[in-house]
Amino acid sequence: MKPHTRKTYVSETVAGLKPSGIRRFFDLASSLDDVVSLGVGEPDFVTSWSIREASILSLEQGYTSYTANAGLFELRQEIAAYLRRKFHVEYRPEAEILVTVGASQAIDLALRAIVNPGDEVIVVEPGFVAYEPLVVLAGGTPVAVHASGADGFQLAPARIEQAITERTKAVIICSPNNPTGTVLRPSELDALARLAERHDFLVIADEIYAELTYEGEYTSMAAVPGMRERTILISGFSKGFAMTGWRLGFAAAPQDILQAMLKIHQYAMMCAPTMAQYGALEALRNGEHEVEHMRNSYRRRRNYFVAALNEIGLPCHLPGGAFYAFPSIRHTGLTSEQFAERLLLEEKVAVVPGNVFGASGEGYIRCSYASSLEQLQEAIKRMKRFLARL
Ligand code: PMP
Repeated sequence: MKPHTRKTYVSETVAGLKPSGIRRFFDLASSLDDVVSLGVGEPDFVTSWSIREASILSLEQGYTSYTANAGLFELRQEIAAYLRRKFHVEYRPEAEILVTVGASQAIDLALRAIVNPGDEVIVVEPGFVAYEPLVVLAGGTPVAVHASGADGFQLAPARIEQAITERTKAVIICSPNNPTGTVLRPSELDALARLAERHDFLVIADEIYAELTYEGEYTSMAAVPGMRERTILISGFSKGFAMTGWRLGFAAAPQDILQAMLKIHQYAMMCAPTMAQYGALEALRNGEHEVEHMRNSYRRRRNYFVAALNEIGLPCHLPGGAFYAFPSIRHTGLTSEQFAERLLLEEKVAVVPGNVFGASGEGYIRCSYASSLEQLQEAIKRMKRFLARL
């Protein structure tokens, strides 16, 4: 049979998923020359040499087999020590830590391990584009709760409370947030914790950007009193350690939940890549200084870029973390998509329209400042010219 005459075999669930709105802009941007891209969500640093060298050495030594399903025990021990040192939370490496293929897989496993058909999972928007599709793929129903720009995109526990039903299994939060850069205040985390206790649900805390926090001490959801038993902590090496291509993340959770995640992982993945795990071991043992250097560099670029956005007339709150600025474009009268498309075609600056991160992102654009200062200055020059013409 010719391929086009056969029926479609794609599942209704998958057919029903929206394509990622970010992809479309990447495709358009890559078809143009001389584009200043503020579109990508990844560090502009190459992974530090000592991490690369440790991974190369592991290959030279012939460590090319599978590791334990949960990951190298040494690495889980280092992750436990790191979580204790940085966030003051205690996890047992033998039963409560799982090394995954990026934070992405950890989020997927967390959802698949806890969701029964029809369970609701509250997703705070604007938020990372993968959460809703992953809830759907796990058989759950995503329920969007909207954070407001007027409040710097804090959590608004009162709005979360309104969305809670008998079927609420979990709430996914992300701090620092992609796309808003917002770091959730401890008072908001406390309020969410009280809701979780009262209504008996879990929190999936995506803390992948925790290393990239620019003011004060970072508070992990798992460190909030009473929350260790109700939190699935998600993190990884992609952002803080500039290791996106290594595909290495981890989850920490109470034993019953972590073991359920491990059950899926051992069938679906076996283990995370071995050479990447050796690199991660070096990252945790000796990477602190390098992370500090990158954090300071992002902070400098944030300070310049956010001030410049406000100066050219794109109001933007000062994001406490990650490497995204999320200015409002509402006053231009354009939708986020129109703004982003025209900015790309007319001035060759690629940004991501805010609405791809959920309906409350409409009226905003996401600009990644993980770009050189020269590129950021050039982007500001072009955006200023674009705004003057509108
Ligand atoms: N969570 C958030 C909020 C992210 O922005 C990203 C990467 N864009 C991920 C998770 C996935 O990270 P990883 O590379 O570790 O899979």
